[in-house]
Amino acid sequence: MLASRRSFLKRAGLTAALSSWVVPPKEGHAAAPGIGGTQGAVPRHILHLVADGTSSGTLTVADYFSRLVRGTGLRWLELYQRADTVQALVNMRSLNSVVTDSAAASSSWGSGSRVKNGSLNILPDGRELRPLYRLLAEAGWKRGLVTTTEITHATPAGFAANARREDAETIAVQYLDRRVEVLLGGGSKFFLAGKRQDKRDLLADYRGAGYFLAQKQAELADAPPDRPWLGIFAESHLPFTIDHQADAKLRERVPTLAEMTRRALRKLAREDRFVLQVEGGRVDHAAHANDIAAAVHDLLAFDEAIEVCLEFRQREPDTLLVITTDHGTANAGLNSSGGSGDGAKPPAFHNLRHARASFSEISRRLGNNHTPGHLQKVIREATGYKVPDAKAAFLASFLEKKGWALYDAMNSATLQLGQLLGNYYGVGWTSGEHTADYVPLIALGPGAERFRGFLQNTELFHHYLALAGIDFRNPEVPLMVESGPTAAEVEVLPALV
Ligand SMILES: [Zn+2]
Repeated sequence: MLASRRSFLKRAGLTAALSSWVVPPKEGHAAAPGIGGTQGAVPRHILHLVADGTSSGTLTVADYFSRLVRGTGLRWLELYQRADTVQALVNMRSLNSVVTDSAAASSSWGSGSRVKNGSLNILPDGRELRPLYRLLAEAGWKRGLVTTTEITHATPAGFAANARREDAETIAVQYLDRRVEVLLGGGSKFFLAGKRQDKRDLLADYRGAGYFLAQKQAELADAPPDRPWLGIFAESHLPFTIDHQADAKLRERVPTLAEMTRRALRKLAREDRFVLQVEGGRVDHAAHANDIAAAVHDLLAFDEAIEVCLEFRQREPDTLLVITTDHGTANAGLNSSGGSGDGAKPPAFHNLRHARASFSEISRRLGNNHTPGHLQKVIREATGYKVPDAKAAFLASFLEKKGWALYDAMNSATLQLGQLLGNYYGVGWTSGEHTADYVPLIALGPGAERFRGFLQNTELFHHYLALAGIDFRNPEVPLMVESGPTAAEVEVLPALV
C-alpha cells in the first residue's frame, strides 16, 4: 500500500505541470497488488508487446513447439487461462487495404488514425498526425522502443515518427529530436556518418544530446540509468534467434529480446510513468520466407520477453500489459501432410527440433552453388532433412530462375524451400505475403477492461490516451476504395537468389 500511496502523490504533483488539453484521470488509483484488470484503475506503466506478423497458425505451431522443447506451452497462451486477463480480436486494416503493412498498423495504434500502407502517421494529403509518444511525453511520460529489427523499422517508428517507412534516416533523426528515452535494436547503418546518405554523424549527435551509446551486450549491462539510451547491436536487423543461438560470438555481442526488455524496464522503473513498446520483429521476416523454424524460435524468444514483463508486473502491479500482433503473415498451418503420428513413428512436426539455421543462413551457406547435390548437403546439415533427388532438382531450377510455380504468389526459391520443408515439418503456407487476419490481443492490468471484444486498431490509441488522462484526437479520413497493397507498400525481403 505504501507504493500505491507514493505513486498517487507523485501523480498528483505531476498533474499541475500538464499542458492545457491534459485532464487528470477521474478515477485514478493504482491497482491493488496482484490484481489485474481492476475496473476504473489507471496504469502508471504501459507495456505494448508486438510479435510482428504472427498469424494464429504460427502462434499455434510455436505453442506446440514450445511443449516439445520446453515441456510447457507459450506464456502468451497460458494467459488466456487467467481470470484477470481481457481478450479481443482486432481489425488491423489500413486506410487503403484490408491487408495492412507494419507501418499503417503501428500508425493506427500510434495516432488513432488509419493511414495508407507505407506511411507512418501521415495522411494521404500530407497532414502529419501527432504520434502517441509525443503526446505522452508532453504529459510527463518516459518512452522506450525495444525491437529485434532495425530500431527505425515500421513498428517502433509508428509510435514516435512521421515519415515514409523507407525513410529510416529521417526516423533516426526524429527519435533524437523527440528524445525517446530508450532505443534498443538494430540498424546502425542509419546512424553512422559513413553509411548515411547525408553523411551526418548521428551517433555523435546522440552522444552530444546526453545519450549513452551501446553497441554490445556488455555495454548495455553497464548503461547508466540516469541518461537516455541508444543501443544498436547490428548494422541491420538483429539475427534470427535460431542463428543467434547457434553462434557463440553473436550470443556474446547481441542481447536477446528478453535481455533488452529486462534492461529497459530496470531503467524505466525509476520513472513515475512510462510506456514501452517491445517488438519481436523477426517472426514476420521468417514468415515472409515461409521459414517455420526461424518463426517459432523467434516467437519463443518473444515469449521470454513476455515472461520478463510478467515478472515486472508482479513487482509493479499498476502496469498495463497488452500483447498482440500487427497482422498475419503467410498463415502457417500445422497440418497432417507429414503423417498422422499414429504411434509407429513421431509426427513430422517433431522434425522441427532438428532445425539449426534460418533460411538466411542456409542461403549464405549455399552461396552461388545451386547444384542439387550441394542443396541436399546444405539443407540436410541445417535441418536434418534428406531431400529426394527429384525435389532437389526442382528447387535448383528456382535458384537458377527457371522454375515456375502454379500459384504465382509462390514463385520464389525461398518460398519453394518452405514448400519443400513442408514435407518434412508438416507445416504449410498460403503465400509469402501479409494477410487480412483479425488478430488476437490480450490485456492484463489496470485499464485492461477497455480492450475487450472486437476492436478496431485505432481504438488502442484512444484507450492509451484516456488512461493517461489526455484528451486529444488526430484527424481521420474515410477508408479508401479497396485495393491490395503494392509490392512497394509491404516489406520486400531479399530472396535466396
Ligand atoms: Zn511483413
